[in-house]
Amino acid sequence: MKVLVTGGAGYIGSITSEILLDEGHEVVIFDNLERGHREAVDARARLIQGDLRNREDIRGAMRDARPDAVMHFAAFALVGESMQDPMLYFRNNVLGGIQLVEAILERGVKKIIFSSTCATYGQPDRMPMTEDMPQRPTNPYGESKLMLEKVLNWERERHGLQPVFLRYFNAAGATEKLGEDHDPESHLIPNVLRVALGKSRALNIFGDDYPTPDGTCIRDYIHIVDLAQAHILALTGEHTGAFNLGNGDGYSVKQVLEVARELTGHPIPAEISPRRPGDPARLIAGADKAKQVLGWKPKYPEVRTIVQHAWNWHRAHPNGYRK
Ligand code: UDP
Repeated sequence: MKVLVTGGAGYIGSITSEILLDEGHEVVIFDNLERGHREAVDARARLIQGDLRNREDIRGAMRDARPDAVMHFAAFALVGESMQDPMLYFRNNVLGGIQLVEAILERGVKKIIFSSTCATYGQPDRMPMTEDMPQRPTNPYGESKLMLEKVLNWERERHGLQPVFLRYFNAAGATEKLGEDHDPESHLIPNVLRVALGKSRALNIFGDDYPTPDGTCIRDYIHIVDLAQAHILALTGEHTGAFNLGNGDGYSVKQVLEVARELTGHPIPAEISPRRPGDPARLIAGADKAKQVLGWKPKYPEVRTIVQHAWNWHRAHPNGYRK
């Protein structure tokens, strides 16, 4: 299939593009390169540089690329930043998303795989979290993703769009070529590894007074390659609707730190800092639906493998994509 990948120069978009290309699909990447990296764009893909906030950029790209399907990754994705500047998130993720949907409808494309998030659920009532749970986001990031899910749902009713919402838990890990490079970095695993690389002195643990066994937040980490595979499975067939993507296992911040200490052989000092606003204590996926309906089977469910692959990439790219 010919797939237009928005945000294909970002972490999840670039790796999904790499795997789509490996499996013989054709990829056109649409990215403004604001937070993504030109170096992460696969040489086999075509890059159209444009911004979803400019309506004509995405209309032109859709006319030009004539894709069979769209994978939509382009978005801001930091909870903390969204708490400080909600409009940044609504403008980019919601307005930009709506303009993408309009361009898709204009071209008569039906299939859109949308990069959604467990942050659309907010503070869950029960664990593991399933797709039928109420969506009550506690931060503008989650709200912006939920808003676009709703737009897409109404367009499914009205125009026969076939949206698939993939609600990610915590994406991590790397392939041999591509990995995670944000500036500033806010995610746990790369921040832990930065200390092991000597790039920062200590890890800040954001809160150790949560109602969890060791007091630190619990998350469900999922290997980026498994995440990418789920997108490709969602592309084929008549699938539509929401799917959680996680391993159903929770690891605390301190447990991840311990795994990284073992794998890197570095003591990785850590300090307790205040809680980060917007962080729920515990997020664990119930991903049976993706397994049953999409036939999804995670290849790397172990957090050890996820951290190991991230470590391999960061060691090979100590400055990220910068030479
Ligand atoms: N975290 C931390 N120190 C860091 C980065 C993250 O203690 O330098 C914690 C964060 O508070 C959360 C967990 O690690 O409980 C995962 O955070 P991340 O930003 O990786 O993903 P999120 O769950 O926010 O999407």
